[in-house]
Formats: sequence, structure tokens, C-alpha cells
Amino acid sequence: MLVDYLVEDNKNVTAKEYMGIFGNPIKHTLSPVIHDTLSEAFGIDAKYVPYQIPVEKLDAAVKEAYTNGMLGLNITVPFKQQVMESLVDIDPAARAIGAVNTLVRGAGGFVGYNTDMPGLARAIASEGLKLQNSKVILLGAGGAARAVAYMCLKYGANKVYIINRTFENAKKLADDMNACFMCEKMIPVSAADYKMIPKDSYFMLQCTSIGLHENDGLPLIDDVSFYEMASAGVDLIYNPAKTPFLCLLKKLGIPCMNGLKMLLYQGIMAYELWTGKEVSDTLSEKVYRNLCKKIYGDKIVLIGYMGVGKTTIGKHISEEYGYKFIDTDALIEQNFNMKIPDIFEKYGEMRFREMETELLRTLTTKNENYVISTGGGLPLREENQKLLKKLGKVYYLQADADTIYSRVKGDKSRPLLDCEDPYNKICSMLAIRDPKYRSVADECIDVTQNTPAEIASKIIQNN
Ligand code: NDP
Repeated sequence: MLVDYLVEDNKNVTAKEYMGIFGNPIKHTLSPVIHDTLSEAFGIDAKYVPYQIPVEKLDAAVKEAYTNGMLGLNITVPFKQQVMESLVDIDPAARAIGAVNTLVRGAGGFVGYNTDMPGLARAIASEGLKLQNSKVILLGAGGAARAVAYMCLKYGANKVYIINRTFENAKKLADDMNACFMCEKMIPVSAADYKMIPKDSYFMLQCTSIGLHENDGLPLIDDVSFYEMASAGVDLIYNPAKTPFLCLLKKLGIPCMNGLKMLLYQGIMAYELWTGKEVSDTLSEKVYRNLCKKIYGDKIVLIGYMGVGKTTIGKHISEEYGYKFIDTDALIEQNFNMKIPDIFEKYGEMRFREMETELLRTLTTKNENYVISTGGGLPLREENQKLLKKLGKVYYLQADADTIYSRVKGDKSRPLLDCEDPYNKICSMLAIRDPKYRSVADECIDVTQNTPAEIASKIIQNN
């Protein structure tokens, strides 16, 4: 019985409809985050559950899932090829790739699709990167690389060099794809011969498993000048968030991304196939944030004008709910061993704003639960707005000028209020900043009505 293979924590889950994933092992799958967030957003009473299927039971399990009315299934390692024998039909792209990761209900049984391939294409487009007419270097020739190679030709790459440790695997992949698209655009290269690739600008797709482990180095080619040929790069690995390949590209100033958005969009596209729904960019962003939370840790970001209680509320969240607390102003003072008024005086406001940006960048790489209280001017910089969104859910703590003035008057540690008429300065600054804070915030919270503890609890419940 299928129910016997349900992963332990899901035995008591109840819903009107079910979706699921078959794999082995499967316990640590992130897919429920994607699909349950989507069902909740669309108001669909459905749950997504993982099944650890014994290899010899796959065929029976697929058929039972169909008979039971399962809305849709994902298939993962080690079943992406084996499952093809249990289907009534297979989408031509999935057949050419040789792997199925999504089963959709058809007449008399499931039909197989591969959403890894268009999922990665959608992830690349969502980052403003372009494959069309590009020259590509594909590192790796395993299962994932097959979907990526197919995607390159389908989305208009001009030429694709495939470099792999085992040349025969690269050659087989190139031959298969050239035959499938009736072209000669795929060229296999053994890792030792990488210098035969002409000096040019390439979209680099890292599809080996090198980078998964702590002591891993660069994939296949240990030569920085090779990676300098990248115009953009994707590493399919998403945990760790930054592999040596991505770190190098970042250092070289080359736009790049990890594989988490590929995971996101393969899931979204499966969900769209199962339900006929269209997932908007805004909803995709929400799902992405939930995925990041699950893998890299949860981050709560507090923004707003001085005196609204960002530090006090942040500390409540930290103490009551176990998040690490960061006050960006305090951390900058600590890092530079200087008070903010002195930083302003010695280096100027612009340099201070740069320090804030550098700090935000560092925080985006931390995989822990943080509550971050930001300096009042920090969200005004466009660069910082993007980083804040990337960090986590942003809460604008909001108060009127009178309340703020009553809280901060006479506070000499605030250089911006060191003037003749601080009240008027607060009014005029607030008038400019309020719309900007609102545009960055995911949620606005009036802090004049409740205690810091009540506000902290509200934020935790909403996050
Ligand atoms: P496979 O095992 O099918 O292929 C592994 C690839 O890495 C092969 O090209 C293999 O070369 C190469 N490789 C492995 N170890 C070494 C090594 N020590 N030195 C040189 N080359 C090596 O794995 P997949 O294709 O399924 O997955 C590859 C990566 O992609 C994984 O890290 C996985 O996490 C990631 N992935 C991400 C997805 C996402 O949604 N973001 C989806 C699927 C995969 P060779 O042919 O010589 O053995």
C-alpha cells in the first residue's frame, strides 16, 4: 500500500486532494514548501507529501497513486528514468532528455514531463539573463546536464561546448542532442583539452556535483583565465548557496546564480501542469522566500525612521523567539570601532551608506535565523532595497512625526537631528522617506498602538 511508504511526519496529514513526490531517499525534500505554499495561496485544499518508494515497488506505486486520484506526482532520484516504463505517454522533450520528473493525470494513467528543463530556462529569464544566440560552456554530462543541454538548444544557444571528466559521457550527450535537434552545435571536450575552446564570451552552466562538499574546488578546470570567459553563470547546486565556481564568478564581477531558482521553477511548472493555474512573479517570489527560509534560515528585516522601536522590537524577537539580533548601525560601529557621528564626520554620509550595503551583502550569505534592525537611511538606496528583499520579509515600523519627536528629542547620538529645529527636520524627512519605506516593505506595522512585545509577536505570527 502506498500509505506504507509515506515519510513518517506526513502520516496524519489530511486534505481533499494530494500531490506527492516519489524518491529514495526522500526525507529531506524541499518540494512540499513549494507546493503547499502555492496551494495555500490559491485556496486549494491540497497537500504535497513525500513517499520513500522501494526500487522494486515503483511501478505498482505509480499505478496505485493514479487509481487513488492523486492530482500529480514528482519523481526524483533514482527513479527519473525507471518511471518511464510506468506511464501511458511521455512528452517529447522528456523523452529526448531521457528523464521524467513530473507526472500529470492522463486517460488511463500518468503522462510524463520534464520540468527541470523549462524550469531552469524560466529561472535564467527571471534573473534577466539570456541564452538565445549565446555560446555556452556546459560543465558536466550527468543526468541534470542532459536537461540543461536540451534547454540550451531549445532556447536558441548558438554553440555548446560540453566539458566532462569522462569524455565518453560528454560525447554521448553531444551526439544525442545533435541528433535530436538535427544540428552540430554540441561539441564534446575532455577536461584536459579545455584550451581548444576558442577565447570568447560564454554562458557557463555548472552541472557537475563538484561544489557540494566543503573542501571542493573549482569544477574540472583549475584555471581562472578559463572562467574569465564567462559572460554569465549558473551553478545547479543550491546547497551550499555559494560554490567555489560561484564565488569566483562573483569575484570577477560576472552575473551568476545558484540552482535554487531552478528547483523553484521546476516545482512551479509542475504545479501549473497539475492545476491549470498560472503562478505570478509575485507568488513565485513568495515561494522562493519560503524555500530560502527553509534552507538558508529565516530573516526578519525591520525598517523605519529613527525612534520607531526597531532595536527594541528586534531584541524582543531575538529573546523570545531565538533569532540572532543584528542592529546594522551597532554592527558598523563595532566593525569600524567608531561611533556613527564620527564616521559621518570623518568619511561622509556616502561612505557610511556604502558600509551599510557591504554589511547587507554579507548578511545575505548567512544561513541562520536573524532579526535585522536597519538604520533609518539604509532602505533609501536602490541597491539596498534589492538586498533587503533578498534577505527576508521586510516590516516597516511606522509612527507619526509627533510620536517620533517625543521619543528622540535630546538624543545626541543621532547626527541627523543635530540641527536648530529637529521637529521640522523629522517632519520633512519623514515626508520623503515614508513612501520609500512603504515601497520596500512587505508589511507596514503601526507601532504607536501596541507594546514592543505585542508587535514582536505579531511579526512572528505573520512571518
Ligand atoms: P550525476 O551523478 O548524473 O552527474 C554528475 C556529474 O558530475 C557528471 O558529469 C560527473 O562526471 C561529474 N562529477 C562527479 N564527481 C566528479 C568529480 N569528482 N570530478 C569530476 N567530475 C565529477 O548527477 P546529476 O547530473 O543528477 O546532478 C549534478 C548536480 O546538479 C548535483 O550537484 C545536483 O545537486 C545538481 N542538481 C540540481 C538541480 C536543481 O534543481 N537545482 C536538479 C538536479 C541536479 P562523470 O561523467 O565523469 O562521472
